[in-house]
Amino acid sequence: MNEQRRLLVVSGPSGAGKDTVVKCLRQAHPEIELSVSATTRPMRPGEAQGVDYYYMTNEQFEEKISRGEMLEHVNYCGKYYGTPKSEVDKRISAGITVVLVIEVIGAANIKRLYPESTLVFIMPPSMDELAARLRGRGTEDEATVQKRLARAKEELQEKDAYDFAIVNDDVSRCAQELYDILVARQSE
Ligand code: 5GP
Repeated sequence: MNEQRRLLVVSGPSGAGKDTVVKCLRQAHPEIELSVSATTRPMRPGEAQGVDYYYMTNEQFEEKISRGEMLEHVNYCGKYYGTPKSEVDKRISAGITVVLVIEVIGAANIKRLYPESTLVFIMPPSMDELAARLRGRGTEDEATVQKRLARAKEELQEKDAYDFAIVNDDVSRCAQELYDILVARQSE
């Protein structure tokens, strides 16, 4: 099997529940490891350095880019987000399945670098449900919610670039679907 197939890239609009689905997948299958991204956005309550993200300043992030330490990076809603190289290559070579939860531009860049990787797009049941989830989360102000909703509409148009698109109407069902995709890809 091509080791790139151990790379699972999950995207979906902010509020589609992709982090929750991936958490559920990893609870059921702890052998699957999560790639921890770097970001310049502020830490949210409940998040931790090196667990949810590697939080850093613009200067630190830009230095990592110039040293060639980022596999891909984007500017999302005014903040940098990127996948450190160290999160991916060694693991897939060692036979470990790695999941990246990243936005659409980053996913397309990963697919260019790793053509055999598996890209899955997670959709919310509806835009109304997405707006309700974003507001209900209470972690962003209304202006940020509006920015994220606008971005979500753009992102939904990108779903055809993915190998699979699945609907998060129920977290554990969706996590199982994700696992089934992974197993099928790795046994092809
Ligand atoms: P949040 O601020 O809600 O944690 O993340 C905002 C968006 O950035 C989400 O769509 C998330 O998946 C995406 N994201 C997180 N890490 C990365 C990364 O390393 N690269 C890219 N391209 N997007 C990322």
